[in-house]
Amino acid sequence: MKLNKDLDSLTAAAKKIRLLLLDVDGVLTDGRLYFSNSGEETKAFHSLDGHGIKMLMSVGIGVGIITGRNSALLEKRASDLGIELLYQGREDKLQALEEIMASTGLESGQICYVGDDLPDLPVLEAVGLGFSVPQGHPDITAAADAVTENAGGMGAVREITDFLLKSQNKYASFHLS
Ligand SMILES: [Mg+2]
Repeated sequence: MKLNKDLDSLTAAAKKIRLLLLDVDGVLTDGRLYFSNSGEETKAFHSLDGHGIKMLMSVGIGVGIITGRNSALLEKRASDLGIELLYQGREDKLQALEEIMASTGLESGQICYVGDDLPDLPVLEAVGLGFSVPQGHPDITAAADAVTENAGGMGAVREITDFLLKSQNKYASFHLS
């Protein structure tokens, strides 16, 4: 992970996180939009990310999605992972964040966000901890608190879920040797 802040302050911020919010295209996917001849859209998700999301939820840290686009397949993926906070078709992501804070009662410092492009910037700046991905827009990778090693759709989210679990001393229980 490439840090834009010192590790101690990132770890301190990570200890407070109760909810991880994710952009989809470019974060949970590689950012490319795949269409079939019939016009149907497909996306590829990474199983490393899926397991990381489940690990996080199993220790009581929530996970939600805010995306500007709409797709039925995302509903399926979110439902497979047990994600109930699914905000699709939300071009104003800050508005979605405010709704989530109102409905969950969480404060901005308890929320972590991952985004890769300009619509993500207001949310990234509003929350307690903000991440981006190496192929993200340069303005976003500069504004984020840290940038993952793995690309979006290739395990970037797993890096972040592992970091949150380790920062909260909840990672070791998953290591079954
Ligand atoms: Mg995106």
